[in-house]
Amino acid sequence: MIFFSKNKCSQHKHQRKKDKKEYKMITFGVLTVSDRCSAGTAEDKSGPALVKLLDAQQKFQCQVVQTSIVPDEKSTIEAVLKDWADTLHLDVVLTTGGTGFAPRDVTPEATKAILDIEAPGICIAMLKASLDVTPMAMLSRGVAGVRGKTLIINLPGSPKGALENAETALKGVPHAVALLKGETAKVEKVHNNLHCGCSHEKVETDPSKVAHRPRKSPYPMISVEAALDIILAEIGNLQQTTKLPISQALGYIAAADCTSLCDIPPYPASTKDGYAVLSEDGAGERKVVGDIVAGGVDQNQQLSHGECLRITTGAAVCGGADAVVQVEDTELLDSTLDGKVELKIKVLEAAIKGQDIRPKGSDLSRGEVVVQKGTKIGPAQIGALASAGLSQVTVYEQPSVAIFSTGDEILDVNVSAHSPFAIYDSNRPTLMALLVQHGFHVHDLGIAKDIPEQIADTLRKGFNVSDVVISSGGVSMGEKDFLKHILATEFQAQIHFGRINMKPGKPTTFATCSFGGRKKFVFALPGNPVSATVTCHLFALPALRALAGFDTKYRGEMSVQLAEDIKLDIRPEFCRAVVERVKVPSEHVPVAHLTGNQISSRLLSLQSGSVLLVLPAQTDERKILCKGSLVRALVIE
Ligand code: AMP
Ligand code: MG
Repeated sequence: MIFFSKNKCSQHKHQRKKDKKEYKMITFGVLTVSDRCSAGTAEDKSGPALVKLLDAQQKFQCQVVQTSIVPDEKSTIEAVLKDWADTLHLDVVLTTGGTGFAPRDVTPEATKAILDIEAPGICIAMLKASLDVTPMAMLSRGVAGVRGKTLIINLPGSPKGALENAETALKGVPHAVALLKGETAKVEKVHNNLHCGCSHEKVETDPSKVAHRPRKSPYPMISVEAALDIILAEIGNLQQTTKLPISQALGYIAAADCTSLCDIPPYPASTKDGYAVLSEDGAGERKVVGDIVAGGVDQNQQLSHGECLRITTGAAVCGGADAVVQVEDTELLDSTLDGKVELKIKVLEAAIKGQDIRPKGSDLSRGEVVVQKGTKIGPAQIGALASAGLSQVTVYEQPSVAIFSTGDEILDVNVSAHSPFAIYDSNRPTLMALLVQHGFHVHDLGIAKDIPEQIADTLRKGFNVSDVVISSGGVSMGEKDFLKHILATEFQAQIHFGRINMKPGKPTTFATCSFGGRKKFVFALPGNPVSATVTCHLFALPALRALAGFDTKYRGEMSVQLAEDIKLDIRPEFCRAVVERVKVPSEHVPVAHLTGNQISSRLLSLQSGSVLLVLPAQTDERKILCKGSLVRALVIE
């Protein structure tokens, strides 16, 4: 039975308003770092400008309780920061200056040295905003982080740069300070359900109460990169390992270094069919006193001067011989009448010591690593393991995955009855094939109708057989889009994200929950066939690969040039394209052609050998990418 909880959206808004008032007075220190200002040969403009900004801002109560100017001296900067954090217990310290590339710019180094933890998100936010103003922002090296309960943020030295960056950073400051002071029980509650770090209430709206549904998605829109980072962080070190016979290990990733149990060759071995000789004897006649074939050794036979042993390729060079002369470099002088035994030969060219002998262990020595941890086991690795005497190998287990489609209108193509309003299920066959193609074992859970109990039952079945469940459809804003709600209410799942800034695939949802004592991962993909396929490539496959021990997010990417102008979308877009298969000079970048209409319902935009063009969102300055522009393309086959 499924229980729907009340729509909390209006409460949510109200709660957020209240939060602002609840932030207590925030104390600031402003530290100017500059040799010249400190020496009095230049006027400090940035420090006072920051103080003015803080005094003027209305979003929270604050007070600048300390200002100071120090030279670009690492130890001095460190000392002031420590004092302000450890003794004065300031809530926030803004530094300005010393973040550039001049030899004496050491503010970031000094700050890093005294931080307990870094907060790179603040710098990314500042950088993102500044880059829109000037590309020179890329040269700023400022860091941000926390010492004790003090948030420290490096700002650039110029008044303009310092103010612009401060304005961005201040947006996150009250929340950060509240977290540091442990004042936000509500924030913890949020982290239980959403990964975004802002004050969203748990999303438990019942989509079937259509008039009450939120008209804006309550899920924050996150970037593709952030989504992938969240997924990989959730997977963490959950990979399982198992020992497999090498014959069954093809395609798995080695979970440990595999070291050889033996030397190859295990003895000095001849590389030629010929005669084992004493190199000192030089060219000339030799008495053939015996023979050695691969696999057998005459330990007792010792060569005297003028003697040799007949030898085959791979046989152990013994009898004191130190070189091999190939049969082509000899002449037969005498043999038994029946021709079965050679008695005497002539060495035509003097042998060099060691000639045509592979020393013991020269290919592989005992204890040497034959397959490194993290290597994908292919035919060559199976051979190397066998040669090293290893009949088993420890690998990462491959996760199995369960998959289902949702939708009242969705019909299995194998079921002949087709109503005028039915749509054949293309997502399940596509995604199953894609996953099988990548070596994963897939459980087919069929199609669930848009009935909450049926979706919950299907999820349960999936959790019983797999740690990863992939669904498609039912994650958008419609009254039949139950997935998120069921995950949250029925399985107490954490919805880590429910909206991604991308096209296609915006409503892609990722959740984890505990089921039967194990962590389960759910990829609730959008229903449109292209969206489901693209997001499976971008999120579900990397997750499965991470669980299987691969350490790369994408399988392959390349640089391509556009065959045509492309109008950019307001979201970053993954357009499907085919790369021209022409013989091109190596310095030439391959040309990519769009695969026709890019609407997310049109599966034919995915063609054999297509790539995903990674296109940026449009900006005021750039709305079109022109023909010939270079873009990244993800290889999806
Ligand atoms: P939904 O995300 O459930 O709202 O579905 C979005 C669109 O994708 C609708 O037009 C659905 O009919 C279509 N769709 C959903 N699931 C599938 C599927 N398994 N195969 C083909 N089309 C689908
Ligand atoms: Mg649907």
